[in-house]
Amino acid sequence: MQVSISPGMWLPVLRSQPPGDMSVAITIDDAPMPDSLPGMLDSLDEFGAKATFFMSGCRIVHAEELVQETVRRGHAVYAHGWDHVRLDKEKPDRLIVDFDRCENILAKYRPTPQPYLVRMPYNGGYRKISVHRSVRKWMPNSQIAHWRLSTEDHLISPRCSSAGDIEGLCRAEARRVVSSPRIHGAIILMHDQPINDRKNGDLKAMVTVTLLKELLTELHASGLVADVLHPHPSQRLMDRFVLF
Ligand SMILES: [Zn+2]
Repeated sequence: MQVSISPGMWLPVLRSQPPGDMSVAITIDDAPMPDSLPGMLDSLDEFGAKATFFMSGCRIVHAEELVQETVRRGHAVYAHGWDHVRLDKEKPDRLIVDFDRCENILAKYRPTPQPYLVRMPYNGGYRKISVHRSVRKWMPNSQIAHWRLSTEDHLISPRCSSAGDIEGLCRAEARRVVSSPRIHGAIILMHDQPINDRKNGDLKAMVTVTLLKELLTELHASGLVADVLHPHPSQRLMDRFVLF
């Protein structure tokens, strides 16, 4: 197990819903993409499910109306920075500028949430004190939205030789994730077309929509509820110093 120490600087790092909350939180990074997000929203409605989107400013500018639509359908929306770069490798102020720029657009469509849930591009620096310090400076009441279970969605389209392969691969991936003994209360990671996945670009939208549908189908069959990610109510003092 990895252990990181700080002089009381760690923000809460979430991998699950708050204790006692058995709902599953599907988190979707790199949104919004116009050729996949509408289909995802329809699937979520079909299953009566809610999700949490971490949106990238560089994509929002091409589909801002989808922010409004996502909020209107009852989903949670947070910033995922502006450009999809490793902010832990940039100057500290870059994180603040990028998140501020992105949140300024999101705030046109819903009040800025408190506590704020932060997910860095590539999850970069979630164990770095400098990143926690910058996030704290940007939005003091923040929590880092990590995950417990990750879909390997960026590997699906490269494995497809044609559209006919998509459904089977997505179903297998959804079953692998949902059959985990740690599924109850878990935060699941997936993407609205992973930004860095450049192979089989024409299949990425279909993979994204299909994978979410298969995940929702498997969760429903297991009697599990998909809800937005709930911030944790409090942080133990020790957790500010020791990050597991
Ligand atoms: Zn991302």
